[in-house]
Amino acid sequence: MALSPSFQPVLERIAADIAAAPGRGRPADYIPALAEADPRRFGMAVAEPDGTVYGVGDWQQPFSAQSITKVFTLALVLSLEGEALWEHVGREPSGNPFNSLVQLEYEHGIPRNPFINAGALVVTDRLHTLTGDACGTLREFMRAESGCPGLAFDERVAASESASGDRNAALAHFMASYRHITNPVPELLSQYFRQCALEASCADLARAAGFLARHGIRADGSALLTRIEAKRVNAVMLTCGTYDAAGDFAYRVGLPGKSGVGGGIIAVVPGRCSLCVWSPGLDERGNSVAGVAALDRFTTLTGLSVF
Ligand code: GLU
Repeated sequence: MALSPSFQPVLERIAADIAAAPGRGRPADYIPALAEADPRRFGMAVAEPDGTVYGVGDWQQPFSAQSITKVFTLALVLSLEGEALWEHVGREPSGNPFNSLVQLEYEHGIPRNPFINAGALVVTDRLHTLTGDACGTLREFMRAESGCPGLAFDERVAASESASGDRNAALAHFMASYRHITNPVPELLSQYFRQCALEASCADLARAAGFLARHGIRADGSALLTRIEAKRVNAVMLTCGTYDAAGDFAYRVGLPGKSGVGGGIIAVVPGRCSLCVWSPGLDERGNSVAGVAALDRFTTLTGLSVF
């Protein structure tokens, strides 16, 4: 396929389509600090493998990355311990809400995949054990890949989630009862809530996801993952990345993607580009309404998809 000279015209067109569309969903309110977000905000960025970024709307506005960070912690753990991770977490879609407890008991405390909360807690636990500082490792990686040295965690959001985090605490304690968590639960939860509270813009996250478009190669040219490992992370994003709506997301968008309850979604066209879209209004499954619509428009207008 011929490379388009620039993604800018297509982004402008998508922004105009989104501005004209009714209905934006509602911001997440189970984390009080996220409930204040304005659902009319919309931004989108596309990063090419060389780091060139195109953007529209609020594409430079930092927002709460939330579960988008789960892609990066997964990649970091895979880079450190490879396949051993899969002894602790599965890689099948759950078909259940992201914070569900029921499946975990039937399946002996092994979470279905790394992107539901239980699985992400296991991944963060691994990262913390392997590095001694899960959040510090994530922050340095995100700063390096995004080219934004100021990326940081919003401690107010982390505290807000911690104060309302009984469900995540229940998941962590339950897994600890099976010895699937090695760090003390309060320490793990504090790492996990900070991780989710990473503040970054669409431009930052599109660039930071670039290693998945470059088949595992970091911004500085070194390898984080092998080509096969990068394929696997993309595959888990495709099948498990958008809560219990991953089938619908694949149907509409046709790309590996990972959403967060802050209203962001990252997506990858392997070999071609990485994207991030943000709009805080969510549908009932937790995915950004305008975000999914914008990615749907992107793959329709450009023909860029993994299918
Ligand atoms: N920090 C959120 C939680 O654990 C992340 C959820 C999400 O973005 O999917 O509930």
